[in-house]
Amino acid sequence: MPNSQGEPSPKIRFEDVVKQFGDNVVLDHLNFTVDRGEKVTLIGPSGSGKTTILRLLMTLEKVNEGVIWVDDDPFSHEMRKGALTPASEKYLRQARRKIGMVFQHFNLFPNMTVIENLTEGPVHVLGRSKDEAVDRGRKLLDMVGLAEKENAHPSQLSGGQQQRVAIARALAMDPEILLLDEVTSALDPELVVGVLNVLRDIAHSTDITMLIVTHEMQFARDVSDRILMFDKGRIIEEGAPEQIFTEPRNDRTRTFLHAVI
Ligand code: ADP
Repeated sequence: MPNSQGEPSPKIRFEDVVKQFGDNVVLDHLNFTVDRGEKVTLIGPSGSGKTTILRLLMTLEKVNEGVIWVDDDPFSHEMRKGALTPASEKYLRQARRKIGMVFQHFNLFPNMTVIENLTEGPVHVLGRSKDEAVDRGRKLLDMVGLAEKENAHPSQLSGGQQQRVAIARALAMDPEILLLDEVTSALDPELVVGVLNVLRDIAHSTDITMLIVTHEMQFARDVSDRILMFDKGRIIEEGAPEQIFTEPRNDRTRTFLHAVI
């Protein structure tokens, strides 16, 4: 949606966001934006607040101060008021529907087959017909290279295959924003490549806005339009992958990259 100057507004905007757990200030007056369709990767040492950013967007946590905007909606606002009313619950549900998240642990429904995992949300939440949901589910399974597994149960799949199903399941909800939180860090090394290849394809072939937390620096370099380097709840450097990975300006970025690459 254009703003008053006629420029398109960002897809996501963190405005002076403070998040603390007790005395621990995890995000310290954080400001950043993500444009529509942009792929942004958050890097930085463990504990620097990256996952908290994704959890705030999923409304799994509340901000203490500031506002998170999605499109032109003050997305975090209803949660700040304290007790949720039915109206604000409804608002949050609708706002959250724009966002899909894939976690480190895949959290598939264990009692359902792969295709049932993919159709449950579209049928029960989006009100799609069963046929339509199955059709789309099959296309997505094909895209993640698991067309032949539609009737398998999650326990019959490798971790990498389960994670690819989790990615397909997130996409089945047609998210405008996809959040990826360390999606390969629980996998055996030989399974990581397959998952990253699927995500690379999605990043290059869709206009979904993506916010990614990963330690896979080559992957970050391949898919990101922009990298944000975090330390202690602040962005200490941001830029295009080429710049960040080849000529970081900040000493702490340099030290971090030396340690992880
Ligand atoms: P990162 O993803 O960069 O590793 P996190 O966002 O997971 O960092 O964590 C940032 C800080 O917030 C850490 O100090 C962590 O211990 C703290 N933290 C995260 N979640 C909680 C929670 N639910 N309760 C208390 N502290 C938390």
